[in-house]
This record gives sequence, structure tokens and C-alpha cells, in this order.
Amino acid sequence: DLPVIFAITPTYARPEQKAELTRLSQTLLLVPSLHWVVVEDADKPTKLVTNLLESSGLSYTHLHAHTPPAQKLKAKDPHWTKPRGVLQRNTALEWLRSDGPLQVAPLDPEGIPKGVVYFADDDNSYSVRLFEEMRNVRGVGVWPVGLVGGLMVERPIAAADGHGVASFNAGYKPERPFPIDMAGFGINLGLLRDHPHAKFLYEVEPGYQESQLLKQLTSREKLEVLAQNCTKVYVWHTRTDKPKMREELQWKDQGRPPSN
Ligand code: UDP
Ligand code: MN
Repeated sequence: DLPVIFAITPTYARPEQKAELTRLSQTLLLVPSLHWVVVEDADKPTKLVTNLLESSGLSYTHLHAHTPPAQKLKAKDPHWTKPRGVLQRNTALEWLRSDGPLQVAPLDPEGIPKGVVYFADDDNSYSVRLFEEMRNVRGVGVWPVGLVGGLMVERPIAAADGHGVASFNAGYKPERPFPIDMAGFGINLGLLRDHPHAKFLYEVEPGYQESQLLKQLTSREKLEVLAQNCTKVYVWHTRTDKPKMREELQWKDQGRPPSN
């Protein structure tokens, strides 16, 4: 039986949410043995996400955690000023360390659920090949990510001696311990359960979320270099243009968002 891929998706209400989640869910349907952990940034589960998950045909867990107002990005803030998805991903990490995954994944001889954890934001673009690459990660696996960090491709550079990663091609804050995007790594579930305190934090400099988590779990020499020695791109950090709502009278007059 295949190790289960646990795809963690933080998501929040905005006009394009249903489109993003529809697209992502239909990509995930192409992946065998995958469990989708959707964490809504909301104080209770919404009808939109509940209905979408129910009719998706996917195996899933539906969680929610509302970002505290002090950490919420305001309309005029540049997007990099506050980390996004921190509390939601931590809520998923808690679930991954609970008995939840025991119901979903095959167990190894020690009773540990066999799986890999991947942070799959709702707006990125994923090749189905990415999931096959990460499936057998034993510690932490890494691979290139397209369209991020001011580059066509941000990638780890494999060590010549075959021991992990020698360096990274990042231009943005290359001094980070792990200068890679959230979409660029997958973590063995057992490793995560062996480090029960590893989590994301609000109190880190912009760009350091990934490093902050990974340095608790691994080191550069131990990274598993996937996607043909980190030469293939199977995930892109796409971002969706904010749609114009100027003709939406319901929104203008009643202050409540229309639905689609
Ligand atoms: N997100 C969230 N609450 C927010 C903003 C973002 O849950 O207030 C989610 C979003 O749906 C996505 C992830 O966090 O899955 C990363 O957000 P975004 O794509 O906006 O970040 P960026 O790509 O700009 O780093
Ligand atoms: Mn994004």
C-alpha cells in the first residue's frame, strides 16, 4: 500500500476562492492515495468549502482556524508584510500529530502512519508528477519551484558527493538557512511526528517561514534531492489577479460579497 500524501491547503474567502479550490481539487483527483487537509481561515466552516469538499470525490479533512486580526493583511498592505497561512498550517500540523492520520494511512510495523506532508496553497499550479516525486520521501524532499523569488525557477543545487543540497540559486535573501518556497519541499509524516514541537511562527522575518520550520527537522546534507536532481519544474508559484467587482451591486449596496 502506498504512503498517503497529505496535502495541506490554507484557504480564505474571496471572490476567486471557489475557482481556486475547484482547480486544485480536480488536480488532486488525478493523484492516487492522497488525503486533502483543508484549513479555512474562518471562525467556523463555511458552506462553500463544505459543499465543495463533499462533492469533490476526494478523501479529506476539513479544519478551520481564524487568523487573529493583528496578523491579518489589510487591503492596502503589500502582500509580503505579514505571513499568510501560519495558523492554518499549524492547525493542520496538530491534526497530523493526532490519531487522525491513523484512520487514513497504512501503518508501518511500528504502527506509524506512512505518509508525506506537503503544503499546497490554493493558488499555485501543480503537475501530477510532483506528487509521485514526493511519495517516498523518508525525511525531507526538495525540488525546484517556478515563478518565485524573482526567478523563473528557484532551485536547490544537489551536492556533488550525493549528500543532499550544496547550495540554492535563490536571489531573494540567499542567506536564509533554507532559501526555498513553501511549495518546494515535502516532509515524511513520521519525521514530523518525531518532532512534536516543530511549527510555524508569526514572529519571524519575512521569508523565513520555511527555514524556521525546516531547521527544526533537517539539515542541508540530509535533504532528498528529487525531480531529477532538482532539474525539473513540477510546481509553479502562480498568483491570481484580484478580480474587479465594480459592477457587483449587491456588494456595493449591502456590503456583502456575492457568491458564484
Ligand atoms: N491564506 C489564508 N488567509 C489569508 C491569506 C492567505 O488562509 O488571510 C492562504 C491562501 O489561500 C493560500 C496561502 O494562505 O493557500 C498563502 O497565501 P497567498 O497565496 O496569498 O500567499 P503568497 O502566494 O502571496 O505567498
Ligand atoms: Mn500564493
